[in-house]
Amino acid sequence: MSASKSRKATASEESLLRIFTVPEAPESTLSKIEQALSEDLEGFLSQSIVALEKPLHQVERDFRAFEIPDDPKFVSDYTEEMMQTLIAHSVHTAAPSFIGHMTSALPYFVLPLSKMMVGLNQNLVKIETSKAFTPLERQVLGMMHHLIYGERENFYQRWMHSANHSLGAFCSGGTVANITALWIARNRLLKADGDFAGVTEDGLLAGLRHYGWQDLAILVSERGHYSLGKAADLLGIGRKNIVAVATDANNRVDVTAMRETAQTLQQQGVRVMAIVGVAGTTETGNVDPLNELAELARELQCHFHVDAAWGGASLMSTKYRQLMAGIEHADSVTIDAHKQLYVPMGAGMVIFKDPELARAIVHHAEYILRRGSKDLGSQTLEGSRPGMAMLVHACLQIIGRQGYEILINNSLEKAHYFAELIKQHPDFELISEPELCLLTYRYVPQKVQQALNDAVQQQQWQKVAQINTLLDELTQTVQKAQREQGKSFVSRTRLQPAYYQRQSITVLRVVLANPLTTEQILKDVLSEQIAIAESKSHLLNQLAKLC
Ligand SMILES: *Cc1c(COP(=O)(O)O)cnc(C)c1O
Repeated sequence: MSASKSRKATASEESLLRIFTVPEAPESTLSKIEQALSEDLEGFLSQSIVALEKPLHQVERDFRAFEIPDDPKFVSDYTEEMMQTLIAHSVHTAAPSFIGHMTSALPYFVLPLSKMMVGLNQNLVKIETSKAFTPLERQVLGMMHHLIYGERENFYQRWMHSANHSLGAFCSGGTVANITALWIARNRLLKADGDFAGVTEDGLLAGLRHYGWQDLAILVSERGHYSLGKAADLLGIGRKNIVAVATDANNRVDVTAMRETAQTLQQQGVRVMAIVGVAGTTETGNVDPLNELAELARELQCHFHVDAAWGGASLMSTKYRQLMAGIEHADSVTIDAHKQLYVPMGAGMVIFKDPELARAIVHHAEYILRRGSKDLGSQTLEGSRPGMAMLVHACLQIIGRQGYEILINNSLEKAHYFAELIKQHPDFELISEPELCLLTYRYVPQKVQQALNDAVQQQQWQKVAQINTLLDELTQTVQKAQREQGKSFVSRTRLQPAYYQRQSITVLRVVLANPLTTEQILKDVLSEQIAIAESKSHLLNQLAKLC
């Protein structure tokens, strides 16, 4: 920043042309950042923080200017400023002790490849601006299709690059993938028929009238992702028509309850448009009984979508892929590459079992997306889209199926190890067993656990609630303090375990996807939580009084 005192940038046509052509001088801050990114990535990233030492409202002060600056700035001055204000206060999501969310470390090669992708600036909406990127994206979708459905060679030869078909849609993430799947389900259900031109032309109201339905509904587990609510809202179906069905003690949807719900709805004249199975819930990582859901969808003659945004990558593991058994019956499957496939954010996919499916959402335009063209934009919700598929392609080729097998198996086994640590420790309570690499737990001193269990046995639900309320406060305090200390990070959520008669409790949530997380780090995370909890004597005393 000192430089800006001695020299001042000026806007001129010449200097502007230079920013499109001439790279930075090797001694500039930007060049140093680039060098650090390629030579000492870990060092560079660790300038960002796990801690939130500086409160957000103070960080906001650095971003309070609202006028676009009149005067230009030197790139070096700008990047130096950003080192202080932005990078130093970003979250170190790649840290091996950052085990609270689905965001993990990235393989180093995606960095230079991302730069190349941005440089090429291809737009996947149409062939005219993407050429080879379009077949590459179709290939990635084909590979993911094969991973799920395992069709034969001639299937892919026939459909993968076919102009009027697609094996999936590449998009920015699981949210858009889920919206796309339900959009297709809606359009296929309310298809043109007689004088009704289809929901796409005539709208939802006309569709319901034509088919004689009171309403539409989508059935999903109470653990379904909130993006389904957004989809229902956007598609004009309404959030309240996403019907949340209860889960069993293992957080898997109760299919009997779902069947009953469907029957009740049908009696009321409500048409079930789709069933959504979750393969890896966001909060507990459990997988719904997909085979049974597929059976129910057949009975109801409705679309069967599987939301495997996070869990879908487990299909890469021959050892554990049977956890997803039944996924091959889904009409559509959401998988996020930016979760367990180790691709940077902005890489979601929805895969279609039937290559004809996407025709339900086809839109054409005259200047692009002409009929019969191979433009991907005619069958996607999003318009202009970057060449992110290249980074998925890179990871699939470079890590390979066997590489993912190792990564996925290790994550799962690390979660099992962590669950054992928690179970064996007298002062922790495991709330949800890891089915995939996600688990929830909380700190509960041994004596309190005994009192709690006794109260449960004697069905003293009021006492259970009293203890749980204090434990909620303790869990929240521990989670916040740990985040503020900045050495490690776990997240928290609220669950309604069957064991506590569905009382809502606060739990710590851990996702073990970072390959660099060691067993020692997991032990340290628990030690840190114990130390924080033990320092909260007022809460512990209150709990002791209830024992
Ligand atoms: C993450 C997730 C989503 C949403 O994906 P985004 O990429 O955040 O849009 C949807 N469903 C499940 C089960 C998820 O885990």
